[in-house]
Amino acid sequence: WSSKDFPWTKQLEVNNKKVFGNHSFRPNQREIINATMSGCDVFVLMPTGGGKSLTYQLPALICPGITLVISPLVSLIQDQIMHLLQANISAAYLSANMEWTEQQEIFRELNSEYCNYKLLYVTPEKIAKSDVLLRNLESLHARELLARIVIDEAHCVSQWGHDFRPDYQGLGILKQKFPNTPVLALTATATASVKEDVVQALGLVNCIIFRQSFNRPNLRYSVLPKTKKCLEDVDKFIRENHFDECGIIYCLSRMDCEKVAEKLQEFGHKCAFYHGNMDPAQRAFVQKQWSKDEINIICATVAFGMGINKPDVRFVIHHSLPKSIEGYHQECGRAGRDGLRSSCILYYSYSDYIRVKHMISQGAIEQSSMTYGYSRSNMTNSGRILETNTENLLRMLAHFGEKFDSSTCQKTCDNCLKNTSFIEKDVTEIAKQLVELVKLTGQKVSSSHILEVYRGSLSQLVKKHRHDTLSLHSAGKHLAKGEASRVLHHLVVEDFLVEEVKKSDFYGSVSSILKVNDPKVRNLLLGGQRIILRFPSSIKASKLAKFEF
Ligand code: ADP
Repeated sequence: WSSKDFPWTKQLEVNNKKVFGNHSFRPNQREIINATMSGCDVFVLMPTGGGKSLTYQLPALICPGITLVISPLVSLIQDQIMHLLQANISAAYLSANMEWTEQQEIFRELNSEYCNYKLLYVTPEKIAKSDVLLRNLESLHARELLARIVIDEAHCVSQWGHDFRPDYQGLGILKQKFPNTPVLALTATATASVKEDVVQALGLVNCIIFRQSFNRPNLRYSVLPKTKKCLEDVDKFIRENHFDECGIIYCLSRMDCEKVAEKLQEFGHKCAFYHGNMDPAQRAFVQKQWSKDEINIICATVAFGMGINKPDVRFVIHHSLPKSIEGYHQECGRAGRDGLRSSCILYYSYSDYIRVKHMISQGAIEQSSMTYGYSRSNMTNSGRILETNTENLLRMLAHFGEKFDSSTCQKTCDNCLKNTSFIEKDVTEIAKQLVELVKLTGQKVSSSHILEVYRGSLSQLVKKHRHDTLSLHSAGKHLAKGEASRVLHHLVVEDFLVEEVKKSDFYGSVSSILKVNDPKVRNLLLGGQRIILRFPSSIKASKLAKFEF
């Protein structure tokens, strides 16, 4: 599909420059355009910022007729229409909350002999609910004016995705009604099973698949331990690396957004918060301020993001563990869309891991569509991926079904950049002792208490419970700081131990006690199962805590 010998090649070159102001095509753009203009159904997996819009806007400009674009968010649609009109490309949109007279005007144009629009954007709800729209599409089709159907954010079709929208599932009707009209499905986030699901639900035929590497060389990824001084670190990081530049800080809860924003304001940053509890006008105001660089930093829940088209976002910081790998990927993808170097930092703490896990089990995580279909295994996966702080990028790519060729590694994660090497250590005996200690203390105490006893603490609480008299008291005192907790947390992430939440406070903090998962532990204690963990070898043992998960 990369050939420059298609009948439309010259027109593509000219219009790409003249109308869109681009000097060349980005990876896969030409190939996708050639495939869709040849009449094939096409599925595109391309990272955010890769340039998906051009792959249908340029054909729309060149082909006779109208391109129907289904897109999930009105704000996203409005942004696209604004850009198209600026480039003198005639485009319109229909959404359920538009005035009826306004809608009628658009239908009138669609019915005119030579419909002037090159693109018509609609929300999936509109396709599901509007018979008038379907009749208009049938009429366009009958007059051979329906050039192409584009499904943007196509992963929303799949229940396996993290952003399922019921109205997207009904979009299969389009292929049934217009079997010969090429469909172009676009997404920045789809695993192999989501892709299969989307292709099937939309009824795509002999579909050509384009998947593009998610390894974005201009993004530098770091995973850092989240300490009490996390926000001081963030302040320092921004001052030293991105002073007066623009960024997003993703927080877990609305309360966190407000607290983080307040603290950064105290540090002197131009900063605001954004979450689902604000009224829409307030949210739009903050977004506008940020888009126009009146404020630099936005502290937001995942409610902020889809449809953000700001090319110069220099940093995306996750103040807490993201809710899913797909979500993490998409959120990071908002950085550096202009191709310039940008930073993605994730602050990881074991307590956030427990907190998110608890929130999910309670159904307390915002039920925005972003978390729909989120499963416990997703969560565990993100814990696992971060667990070793190594090859996180590599594993993330694997999650998206990419085979990673290490010779082409762009070395953009911290481990590569710092040349970190790792040693493997058999920690089975430590693991067994910790499990034993949980049993000896009656499965009634927290993980931090277990660690205190194991390290030999003589605190009041330890003495009160007479845990200083246990045989395993101080059994782990020779270990490097952080090593025992790393093993303990691994036991929880891998389900040998279970954190049972006793209470969670207003701020979402949780207090919990450790219990033993007997069936799983049996194999460890009796069956000869070994536990091997990887530790960064260049780091002195005393600094292991930095990598503590
Ligand atoms: P996506 O939809 O994949 O997230 P967009 O279509 O919004 O990405 O494109 C991201 C940015 O890249 C936009 O600012 C767009 O103008 C720019 N862009 C797209 N294609 C090219 C190109 N061939 N050359 C230069 N810039 C491009």
